[in-house]
Amino acid sequence: MRFDLHCHTTASDGGLSPKELVMRAENMQVDVLAITDHDTTAGIEQAQASAKHLQVIPGTEISCAWHAFDIHVVGLNLDIAHQGLQQQLSLQREKRELRAQEMGRRLAKAGIDGVYQQAKQLAGSAPITRSHFANVLVERGLATSFNKVFDKYLSRGNIGYVPNNWMNIGEAIETIHQAKGFAVLAHPTHYDLSNKWIRKLVSEFAELGGDAIEVAMPQMSKDQQQWLASLAQQHQLCASQGSDFHHPSTWRELGRGLQLPDQCQPIWQRWQAL
Ligand code: AMP
Ligand code: MN
Ligand code: MN
Ligand code: MN
Repeated sequence: MRFDLHCHTTASDGGLSPKELVMRAENMQVDVLAITDHDTTAGIEQAQASAKHLQVIPGTEISCAWHAFDIHVVGLNLDIAHQGLQQQLSLQREKRELRAQEMGRRLAKAGIDGVYQQAKQLAGSAPITRSHFANVLVERGLATSFNKVFDKYLSRGNIGYVPNNWMNIGEAIETIHQAKGFAVLAHPTHYDLSNKWIRKLVSEFAELGGDAIEVAMPQMSKDQQQWLASLAQQHQLCASQGSDFHHPSTWRELGRGLQLPDQCQPIWQRWQAL
């Protein structure tokens, strides 16, 4: 069975519609696909309606504040009809909107006008993310690549960055649990944290009642995966895997390059056992 438990659609900052994403995943022989758009579950129904043979797991990726870092917690196997979940996600989207407006003001002060308006147009009805800003800035030739825009304008310490006020990790875990889901710490090695801070993060996540951490992601060294697997084991956390697919590209594909080390307890066994 091929599992991919982390990906994005046009319901947040992905390039493919939920239907296109599901069709692509089916072509890639994915059996179980979790749709995990940023702070929304809006793409789930269309994805489920489009699936012919794969199973769609309802999910979301919640932005959290932790010591001034943006940390992402993925919720899997959610009851998306749960009101408390939808209320919390709606609050997050309001924060996104206010942050985006402030990002626009800060960029304008630095002489870069009208970025918020363009980013908003790109996002349409989806929650507005820094990816939308990044696309606008690249389009205007202000940086040579999507990644460089973050280094130059959008990541912490740069002119377009606005300190976050997302919910905290405990609140995200609680929200996910109330909606009968499982809480997964997303991509622990992608936050620009030292190993010491990653250990602290995983340990706190476990203490707060988190269920799993992502251990297998594309382009990760075996050593890194082994290290995350041992951290999970140490804190009695399950393991998850996902591509974090946003757009078709040469180095990231749905369901590819994902395999958990043997000692891991796959998170999907938890809902399969229900
Ligand atoms: P936001 O949740 O609005 O802060 O936007 C975060 C999204 O921007 C992430 O989910 C990624 O898709 C993208 N992103 C964040 N940081 C980077 C980075 N350094 N390089 C490329 N993409 C990034
Ligand atoms: Mn994203
Ligand atoms: Mn993320
Ligand atoms: Mn993601």
